[in-house]
Amino acid sequence: MTEVGPFNVEGDNWEWNFVPVPTQLCDLCKDRLAKGEKAACELHCLGQCMEVGPIEELAKKAAEKGTRVAVFLP
Ligand code: SF4
Repeated sequence: MTEVGPFNVEGDNWEWNFVPVPTQLCDLCKDRLAKGEKAACELHCLGQCMEVGPIEELAKKAAEKGTRVAVFLP
């Protein structure tokens, strides 16, 4: 995890994020994805905020949601 923040958003509101960072051992769960399954981290993310997939697809989803994202490329 990488700690990002805290940032003052407005007044007494603060944002403080803990961003997961894959290790060099990450192979994007190629065996699971080849079987049509989700990546293990995507499947088990309690906040359901992690997604693995083609960058074009992920960028489109992020734009539709209007949220900030962190992108990790192998
Ligand atoms: S995609 Fe996620 S679960 Fe799969 S190897 Fe990479 S970090 Fe691990």
